[in-house]
Parts: sequence; C-alpha cells; structure tokens
Amino acid sequence: MAKILYGEPVAEALSAETAARAARLRARGVTPTLAIIRVGERPDDMSYERGAVKRCLALGIEVRKYALRADAAQAELMAAIDGVNRDDGIHGCLLLRPLPGQMDEHASCEALAAEKDVDCITAASLCGVFTGDKLRFAPCTARACIEILDYYGIAIAGKRVAVIGRSLVVGRPAAMLLLERDATVTICHSKTPDAPAICREADILIAASGRAGLVGSEYLRSGQTVIDVGINPGPDGGICGDVNFAEAEAVVGAITPVPRGVGSVTTAVLCRHVVEAAERAAGY
Ligand code: NAD
Repeated sequence: MAKILYGEPVAEALSAETAARAARLRARGVTPTLAIIRVGERPDDMSYERGAVKRCLALGIEVRKYALRADAAQAELMAAIDGVNRDDGIHGCLLLRPLPGQMDEHASCEALAAEKDVDCITAASLCGVFTGDKLRFAPCTARACIEILDYYGIAIAGKRVAVIGRSLVVGRPAAMLLLERDATVTICHSKTPDAPAICREADILIAASGRAGLVGSEYLRSGQTVIDVGINPGPDGGICGDVNFAEAEAVVGAITPVPRGVGSVTTAVLCRHVVEAAERAAGY
C-alpha cells in the first residue's frame, strides 16, 4: 500500500517558519499584509478566500479585502489594483480568477506591481519562473508540489518526472521548478499520444489535468510518487482529484490525497510569499 503524503504536516512546518518571520517583522514595526481582490461571489473564490484569510490571520499576516460586484466595470477593478500598488502597507495581492466575462483578465493581471505579485499572475513573475529569478514568486500551487516532495524527503534531482497539464497556473510552472531542481521533465497534455506510457516511465507523476479520475492504473507503476493537484467536483458533492485514488494506492509508492493534499499546502505557500515580499519591501 502507498504511503499517504498528507498536506497538513507540510503546511504546519511552513507555517511555523512563516509565523516566526512575521513576528520578526512586526517587532520592527512592519505588519505583513495581503490584499485579496474578488469580483463577484463564486463559491470556489469564497472558499479559497476563507482558507487564505484564516491561515494569514493565524500567522500574524493582516488581510485587506476588496470585494467588487460581479457586474463591476473594468475601471473599478483597475482602480482597486492601482490602490493596492500605491499602498506601501500592502505587500502582496491575490486577485481571484477567473474574472467575469466583462473584464480583461490579461490587462488586469498585468496592472499589478510585480513585487506584490505573490501568486505569479504577471508576465514578469512567470518570466522569473522560467529564468530562475529568485526575486519573483512562483504560482503557490506549483511551489506547493515542490514543498511536499521536499518535506517527505523525495529526491528530485536526476529523477524522471511526468507532468500532466500545461496550464500557466500549474503544469508549466511546476515543470520549470522541477527542471530547476535537476529533474528530467516531460509535460503531457490533451494532445499527447500515449500519455499513460510516458507517465509509467516516470519516478514522480504530477497530475494537473482537471479531469476527475483520469489517472488510473495504466498511468502508474510500483514505487512511483504521485502528486495529485486536481480539485474536481466529486460524485457525492465533495471534491476529488485527477487520480483514481483506490487504483493508485494499490500500486504506487506514495501519493497525495484529495482533499487534504496539495490544496492545504497552497495557502501556506501564499503566506510565506507575503512575508517574503514584506521582508524585501523593508529591505531585509
Ligand atoms: P486547466 O484546465 O487550465 O489545464 C488543464 C491541462 O490539462 C491542460 O493543459 C490540458 O492540456 C491538460 N489535459 C486535459 N485533459 C488531458 C488528458 N486527457 N491528458 C493529458 N492532459 C490533459 O487547469 P489548471 O488550472 O491547470 O488546473 C488543473 C487542476 O488543478 C484542476 O483540477 C484545478 O482545480 C486544480 N488546481 C488545484 C489547486 C490546488 O491548490 N490544489 C490550484 C489550482 C488548480
């Protein structure tokens, strides 16, 4: 049976370090602060926002919420982003997406000051992920995959990794972070012929397709480590991953569950990014 790689111990270890850094900042008169900009009230956004706010407050990070109506005009969103950019008391900003159809998502993301971009929504941050520029923050979910592997002592250097999914939010940045750690990475996507054969070859499999249960035993082999990033609507009203957990658990060496896996580490990474942004702004 596979070892289950729960996210919570990883999140707790990250959070302990982040709380200590936040306390050091506060002792010097700097309160690390995250702005959350939300347009409308999508249940996914509300749930992510609740989780982020709870963890931030527990770690000594302040949160300022900007809630716009679902039918808000682009100009209102740009004014909110501009306000965040100009406010020296705000160190990081989370813009919840996707934005409603009347908004220009690209222009909105690009309007955010790069140094406050704690979830990699600007081209400057993405460029940093591809060049290895340590001044920029990677997407929190992609970074969370690395944190889980590191916490559980799973070697990355020299390993064969298959990433299922090529989005700019998860698949591609995760592949770049793994490459930077000396893995040999193959990205599979919806047009990849025989993705299961490629995935079976991998030592580490990152599943980020957004297809519930896509990854069954034909993608897997014994001894593999599987990181399931998927958050998909489950049959019972809950959530499920991209991996058929029952099939995988019987075959692979280690696997993250859904829920209680990658998702719980993502907000802990977000908090660390906010504190790092505050440290940089304060000149540490
Ligand atoms: P997306 O829809 O933007 O991208 C999905 C990718 O999967 C695409 O590149 C597509 O080519 C690929 N794909 C689809 N079907 C495939 C198939 N049959 N074989 C191979 N590749 C296939 O989704 P996303 O934003 O990258 O998110 C992926 C999943 O991760 C979703 O379930 C999402 O909810 C979840 N997610 C989780 C977190 C977290 O914190 N755990 C954060 C962000 C996203």
